[in-house]
Amino acid sequence: MRTIHLPDGTELPIIGQGTWRMGEGHRPAKAEADALRAGLDLGMTVIDTAEMYGDGGSEKVVGQAIAGRRDEVFLVSKVYPQNANLRAMARSCDASLKRMGTDRMDLYLLHWRGGTPLSETVQAFETLKAAGKILRWGVSNLDVSDMEELGPGDAATDQVLYNPEARGIEFDLLPWCAQRHLPVMAYSPVGQGGALLDHPAMLAIAKRRGVTAAQVAIAWSVRLPGIISIPKASDLGHVRENAAAAVLELLPDDIAAIDVAFPPPRRRQPLEML
Ligand code: NAP
Repeated sequence: MRTIHLPDGTELPIIGQGTWRMGEGHRPAKAEADALRAGLDLGMTVIDTAEMYGDGGSEKVVGQAIAGRRDEVFLVSKVYPQNANLRAMARSCDASLKRMGTDRMDLYLLHWRGGTPLSETVQAFETLKAAGKILRWGVSNLDVSDMEELGPGDAATDQVLYNPEARGIEFDLLPWCAQRHLPVMAYSPVGQGGALLDHPAMLAIAKRRGVTAAQVAIAWSVRLPGIISIPKASDLGHVRENAAAAVLELLPDDIAAIDVAFPPPRRRQPLEML
């Protein structure tokens, strides 16, 4: 699988796995954990979760999935904004680690910006890093102005919404990050399995290329350098499709057709988030 580098040189595959809506009883937890393990077998070794997802249920599924294979995984979780302060973050982190059955996270993200000053959140992250509980930290749903305020610091990524239906970041945030060699983690790359995958333009490209619309969407999300895409899939067929999207190289005609159906931003847009 193609890889990209974090600012500290760590190499990561460009396609990882999301876990929102896992651990909520939609499917048996074992089936969800099996899907994640199948994804690991296919090289999607970045697993993204959050204390928010299923109220910790998703982290428990992740714990089941990575049991006995912790060292293969680049584990990402997120702290609620209301816990992203010096008083509460350590407790949140410990609870997440316990649910996932591990002693460390590879990356801990601020889920979105809340009332705590970013400088205090960074201090709390650095304290956990010094204690070895997290190896890196980063942010999510931060726009350019927030990133400017965060400063040149040591954030490893900004995780943001990115798919053909939500491409406003191409105007400012993506180039801002690219200039600073800061990777972006694209969430909801298949539009949560909704209308994007039924769009005639996506279906036409998929048919022409002999792939699925989801694979077109994933390949599109990583067509530029510096992006990791984290589709979520509990269905084994979806897992296999998503991993295979890593080798799908979109052609100029494919990209142009998506530009017609989903025009790129011509001016700054407020950051969209789910
Ligand atoms: P997504 O990955 O775009 O879509 C997931 C949905 O699409 C699921 O219903 C899944 O079905 C379906 N799907 C996946 N692969 C498919 C395929 N090949 N063909 C057809 N359908 C497919 O949406 P998401 O879960 O919102 O985003 C991905 C991850 O990003 C999340 O799980 C989470 O880890 C992260 N995220 C972060 C934030 C944030 O604020 N930082 C916000 C949203 C998401 P099955 O499960 O049935 O396979």
